Amino acid sequence: MARIYLDHAAALPVDYRVFEFAKPYLTTLHGNPSSLHSVGVEAKQAVEESRQKIAKFIHAENESTIIFTGSATEANNLAVKGTALRNITSGKTVVASAIEHMSVLNPMKELQKNGFSFTTIPVDSTGIVDLNKLEDMLTKTTTLTSVMYANNEIGTVEPIREISNIVREKGMYLHVDAVAAAGRIPIDVQKDGIDLLTLSSNDLYGPQGAGALYVKPGVRLQSVLLGGGQERGLRSGTENVFAIAGMGEAARIVQEEITQESSRLIPIRDTLINEILKIEQSYLTGHPTQRLPHHASFRFSSIEGESILLNMDMYDIQVSTGSACSSKTLEPSHVLLAIGLKHEEAHGSMVLTLGRSTTMDNVEPVSKATYETVQRLRKLSPLDQEWRK
Ligand code: PMP
Repeated sequence: MARIYLDHAAALPVDYRVFEFAKPYLTTLHGNPSSLHSVGVEAKQAVEESRQKIAKFIHAENESTIIFTGSATEANNLAVKGTALRNITSGKTVVASAIEHMSVLNPMKELQKNGFSFTTIPVDSTGIVDLNKLEDMLTKTTTLTSVMYANNEIGTVEPIREISNIVREKGMYLHVDAVAAAGRIPIDVQKDGIDLLTLSSNDLYGPQGAGALYVKPGVRLQSVLLGGGQERGLRSGTENVFAIAGMGEAARIVQEEITQESSRLIPIRDTLINEILKIEQSYLTGHPTQRLPHHASFRFSSIEGESILLNMDMYDIQVSTGSACSSKTLEPSHVLLAIGLKHEEAHGSMVLTLGRSTTMDNVEPVSKATYETVQRLRKLSPLDQEWRK
């Protein structure tokens, strides 16, 4: 059986059109954008052209709102620490949804060492942020609220416009991590009322090694990485021209194909969900309808996600058990705990993220492999025998 890769939230292949477009920046057009000679100027042009494409992709006011970074993690760190530290005279309170990526939660936790207060906004059992609680939590001293556009582990899409209305009325800045959502659902930072937004190149089928932070005009931010003053002094370090040029082209292509690709993936996702939920004691995690077009996530009673992942790999089907970034720890996912699952329930998760290589023909072998995997693991599980008594 041919390989079926269903872990597109962890890593994507670079689009061959993007690779062809950006390849010269690894070889012939190898300049440093800060150099004043013609080779440097060519590299600078590539970075600026990409900045325009990214600005267009999220409907930003202009291209100078885009700051390139080395990754989404770095963009999240810049958003959190950069705004909190720069606006310290307005307050020392930051809040984030309980299901944010660790690259938002950990910088916020670190701010506590500098005397900041950090609280998390609870979510309901489908992963939607509790808007009433958000409204109660925000005060005049809340300088940053961070809520992701959509969650990478459970696929839930947050009501960003309602959230931004609340933040605008009661707090200061809204940061949105759009890594999981970008390229899957259209994003308009102006209509959505977003102050800062994080993007990742690879999640758009671009090269690894580039991320971007949108910073709305007027938002006060300070650098967290000091050096030669690149990127308007907000992110020093020589630009990764290959990855940045590729990121812009990837965003342009993804934007052109977004409607068609979503309409293609939704029926595949829904058929997969229907088939897999036929397994006894299996449950969908995340929102049943407000979810990303390429995302299907489950939990199965009495078994472990890590064993599911390794068993599925024996069929040459690659899945995830939650966040690849922290899956080396055997701790249950903070996202699954935040939606109210007990520890033992949160352990049995499987996340399928579809992509350009996924077809309807994959549904049957994936469902069959999942069924066989779950049966096999349950036979070995003392918890399952307990449940059957
Ligand atoms: N935010 C979200 C929602 C993510 O899923 C990830 C991981 N893909 C990140 C941020 C961090 O991305 P990276 O590890 O590429 O920096």
